[in-house]
Amino acid sequence: MSNLRAKGCPLCGAPTNPDYRPFCSRGCRDRDLLQWMGEGYRVPGRPIDEVADEED
Ligand SMILES: [Zn+2]
Repeated sequence: MSNLRAKGCPLCGAPTNPDYRPFCSRGCRDRDLLQWMGEGYRVPGRPIDEVADEED
């Protein structure tokens, strides 16, 4: 049966650790958290190339 998704870390597929559900370890949980924040946060100080519209 396809019960694989329900039982395993969403990031690496390793067996879930009850302490870090639904992830397998703190590492994966942190990684997911960072990813999540990375998507929600747009760092204002990010360098942008303003030469994209340069005409010659
Ligand atoms: Zn994992």
